[in-house]
Amino acid sequence: MTSTYRIDKTRTNRSTSKPSVTIENVSMVYPNGFKALENVNLTVNEGEFITVIGHSGCGKSTLLNMVSGFNRASSGAVRVNGKSVKKPGPDRMVVFQNYSLLPWLTAFENVYLAVDSVFPKKPVAEKRAIVREHLAMVGLSEAADKKPPQISGGMKQRVCIARALAIRPEVLILDEPFGALDAITKEELQEELLKIWNENRCTVLMITHDIDEALFLADRLVMMTNGPAATIGEIINIPFERPRDRDRILEDPEYYKLRNYALDFLYNRFAHDDVA
Ligand code: ADP
Ligand code: MG
Repeated sequence: MTSTYRIDKTRTNRSTSKPSVTIENVSMVYPNGFKALENVNLTVNEGEFITVIGHSGCGKSTLLNMVSGFNRASSGAVRVNGKSVKKPGPDRMVVFQNYSLLPWLTAFENVYLAVDSVFPKKPVAEKRAIVREHLAMVGLSEAADKKPPQISGGMKQRVCIARALAIRPEVLILDEPFGALDAITKEELQEELLKIWNENRCTVLMITHDIDEALFLADRLVMMTNGPAATIGEIINIPFERPRDRDRILEDPEYYKLRNYALDFLYNRFAHDDVA
């Protein structure tokens, strides 16, 4: 299927075929005996952007929490850069839906705290410059001194993205990061995320329940079957050239084919009462 990719200079110039994240025969049984995942296999290359969809409760967070190190697989192997994942680390930063910022610190201080904990030996001036650079990257220079309760949901999520990227992770993990945002803010953030990713090219693993978001952002879309014992049902290659232009994609008949294919997977082949 790779041969159907259109020529994409950005990809040919910058992506690699070196595995970044390897998930091998992974199963997850929670301590209460519930088998969430069974025999999941996925290799994500360095600099690749992967989105994961599946019905609510199928095990998407369980899977990515094993990459971030919050969960340990019951069997199988999860490796990042060839090293077995044993615990969370600054090479894998996570952005959640519900912001997880400290409300009593400013945007600047929230990002600084993370930078300082990962690079304690760097001079303060350098750490402050890193924070400023990353807040600017997400368009938040003006709001640097505001605290989370004083800013919108979209701005809070921008702070979280700045904080995650300021650590220079190899893998950025996003668990439904835009799920709580209104449609316009969500589209703005999707575009910003792509722009930043295009400049930095870390590996991205992102969970979403929005098929349009999944198709707009990713190189490959991973579709999961329903739990218990969920696994990867199918992976779709997304051929749109980069940098991506939403209007052009929406005019492309291929887009509707892929969209219908994914919808058919979710609502016919793996239908579920609990609509994601
Ligand atoms: P998703 O992110 O796809 O919505 P999750 O990965 O959060 O799904 O959960 C997958 C399944 O595992 C669900 O049925 C959920 O109830 C179950 N589960 C999640 N965490 C635990 C836990 N700590 N103990 C037992 N079951 C859990
Ligand atoms: Mg989840």
